[in-house]
Amino acid sequence: MTPQGITILGATGSIGVSTLDVIGRNPQRYRIVALTANDDVDGLFKQCVRYQPQYAVMADANAAEQLRQRLLGAAPDIEVLAGPEGLQRVASLDEVDCVMAAIVGAAGLMPALEAARSGKRILLANKEALVISGALFMKQVHDGGAVLLPVDSEHNAIFQCMPPSFVPGAGHPDEISNILLTASGGPFRLTPLEQLAGITPEQACAHPNWDMGRKISVDSATMMNKGLEVIEACWLFSTDAAHVQVVIHPQSVIHSMVQYRDGSVLAQLGNPDMRTPIAHCLAWPERIDAGVQALDIVSIGRLDFEAPDLARFPCLRLAQEAWQAGGTASAVLNAANEMAVDAFLDGQLEFTAIPGVIEATLSHLGVQEASTLDVVLDADRQAREYASILVESASHPEVPA
Ligand code: NDP
Repeated sequence: MTPQGITILGATGSIGVSTLDVIGRNPQRYRIVALTANDDVDGLFKQCVRYQPQYAVMADANAAEQLRQRLLGAAPDIEVLAGPEGLQRVASLDEVDCVMAAIVGAAGLMPALEAARSGKRILLANKEALVISGALFMKQVHDGGAVLLPVDSEHNAIFQCMPPSFVPGAGHPDEISNILLTASGGPFRLTPLEQLAGITPEQACAHPNWDMGRKISVDSATMMNKGLEVIEACWLFSTDAAHVQVVIHPQSVIHSMVQYRDGSVLAQLGNPDMRTPIAHCLAWPERIDAGVQALDIVSIGRLDFEAPDLARFPCLRLAQEAWQAGGTASAVLNAANEMAVDAFLDGQLEFTAIPGVIEATLSHLGVQEASTLDVVLDADRQAREYASILVESASHPEVPA
């Protein structure tokens, strides 16, 4: 077996580390060409020493220089690159077959697009890339001859329940009537509404079932994550939000379901461990060891389902509305959400103020046709500017917005 060359964008994050764990269990199948991070010099240094990639990229230029100095003594053959150009380069190298797109947020868009343009097999964890510019991204995948495989556990489950010939982006299979997108409901599903304003970042990041990065943990707590996933599902499975039903399933054992026209519902089950969807994408259409504990269905005992409460989770409603509005609305939604979540994590914004920042930004900027990448990136920039003014005025209420 010739090993596949792989670039891991976001190697130091939660998905990146899990990807390296799965690769470590199947070393004959993969050759690590490049590892990337933002500014975690220590984390990427340790990974470089252990996995010996050809390239290491730090998005932050100062961090890249520090890494270069440290690697001189430990692994001098590794070429250290910096900045967005470095990220895009390692996403498109000839020796790379497969790109794990696991940078968090809009920063992951350009390298993921570059992987699509260069016809790579893209393992997509960075859902924000599809939310920001789904139409352009799917076109780039098609035009570049890339293969797009969903890492997000729900979308990976849906993919596994699709007809065997289905590949994301190839159109909606006629025999499918609905997608049932499951959600745990996060840590505050049952918290009295009047207690939500005082939620701390630590409480929001303590997800009951999944161990994830901080941004997606907050998104799960507000259910914006599910909203982003509705949009992601619409692009991957060529459907509309009206055919993506969000179902709260607190145990996180069923990772999503597909309803067929004949009344059948297919579900994918497993322990909540991202190594399963990562291994599925890495090996597809084969199966490999992921190191995940076998599901003990008897000890789980019961599976519960309920409808989401949109009054408790306004971010889910905002995402559904942004999908309906089309154009640049979901890019604006995503950018405002990133700013609001950052501000919440920095202690500048209350948890319950997050949806207000997003809604006000959406209504201030309106919707434009997402005709080019420049239009989308401009909407993203304007949304960040406006949302930061709102955050500023929320943290200093004496200054008018
Ligand atoms: P983490 O925050 O754990 O990791 C993010 C990674 O991206 C790190 O390697 C980080 O580097 C890097 N990064 C951050 N900012 C930048 C930037 N500006 N430029 C370049 N690299 C950057 O995130 P997760 O692993 O949790 O999530 C990654 C993506 O996967 C997200 O889009 C998330 O929605 C998605 N996802 C995650 C799941 C999970 O279980 N964690 C499940 C499903 C989807 P550094 O360490 O240096 O900061």
